[in-house]
Amino acid sequence: DTLVNQIAAGEVVERPASVVKELVENALDAGATRVDIDLEEGGIRLVRIRDDGGGIPPHELPLAISRHATSKIASIEDLEEVATLGFRGEALPSIASVSRFAISARARGEGHGARLEVDGGRVGTPAPHPHPEGTTVEVRDLFFNVPARRKFLRAERTELGHVEEWLRSLALARPDVELRLSHNGRLSRHYKPVRDGGERLRRVAEALGEEFTRQCLEVEHAAAGLRLHGWVGLPTASRSSADQQYFYVNGRAVRDRTVAHAVRQAYADVLFHGRHPAFVLFLECDPRGVDVNVHPAKHEVRFREQRLVHEFIYRTLHAALASTRA
Ligand code: ADP
Ligand code: MG
Repeated sequence: DTLVNQIAAGEVVERPASVVKELVENALDAGATRVDIDLEEGGIRLVRIRDDGGGIPPHELPLAISRHATSKIASIEDLEEVATLGFRGEALPSIASVSRFAISARARGEGHGARLEVDGGRVGTPAPHPHPEGTTVEVRDLFFNVPARRKFLRAERTELGHVEEWLRSLALARPDVELRLSHNGRLSRHYKPVRDGGERLRRVAEALGEEFTRQCLEVEHAAAGLRLHGWVGLPTASRSSADQQYFYVNGRAVRDRTVAHAVRQAYADVLFHGRHPAFVLFLECDPRGVDVNVHPAKHEVRFREQRLVHEFIYRTLHAALASTRA
């Protein structure tokens, strides 16, 4: 089974940032309000994720790291979602098959915690272990037993950069969650929780810098079953904003040509300049109107009504931008 898990790891785990993504998403699924990420050597030496979520009872630890075991399929609707998201119950066994792995947890309301270690896929036995409510996952020496994959890991700084970029994207979508990232023992990012929706711009400033929030326009519009809200940057002399483009569909970060084109065209038509716009935009729509099953790790979507979505985004941004010129 280790081999099967290692093959699956090829799909799920590319680098430390993908480990961080899977583990932090699990923490959020478990209802965490605070997630601490500790990395050593860009995450190649260590990725440790601690959360204050619901935890895992001792006897369920072996289940958490076995293949296709997920606690998240509760109903038929969920099954549909599982079909589209894919990779259900594969992250932990995959990661554990290509690292020195440990999971420690205490379930909400339980008196004691437990820990289970997995070494390159070899599963130990759960042992009592003190732990606050919540879960800690440690992933050491990623790909230590898969040299062909290890050699594709890049310099510490590069791997850290991928983690920071993914975290920035998450931080924008989940301002309610406190997120801390430390690298080699030093705090490198701290996103403080935003409890009141009106303070969301503070999180945007933490993620993208005040240069963005000083010169941005809030957008909010709903029509035809679609809702768009967020912020678009107004052009400034200095900004090179090719990399400040964040778009979410129903809370998921996506990269989509239709969306990018609609935004760019609205900018070009109102402001007459060809530079890359900066934006943080959230589109809410009927989940049945969008396919996310392309590849969960590639952030692609397919809208059933592509032209409607394009038109809606274009018109919303065009109207908002035009209002600043009046
Ligand atoms: P999936 O997230 O698709 O269910 P994973 O392999 O990522 O699959 O996780 C397997 C199971 O382990 C989850 O369904 C959940 O029950 C449990 N689990 C993993 N991480 C956590 C966590 N941080 N807190 C609570 N439970 C967790
Ligand atoms: Mg998961």
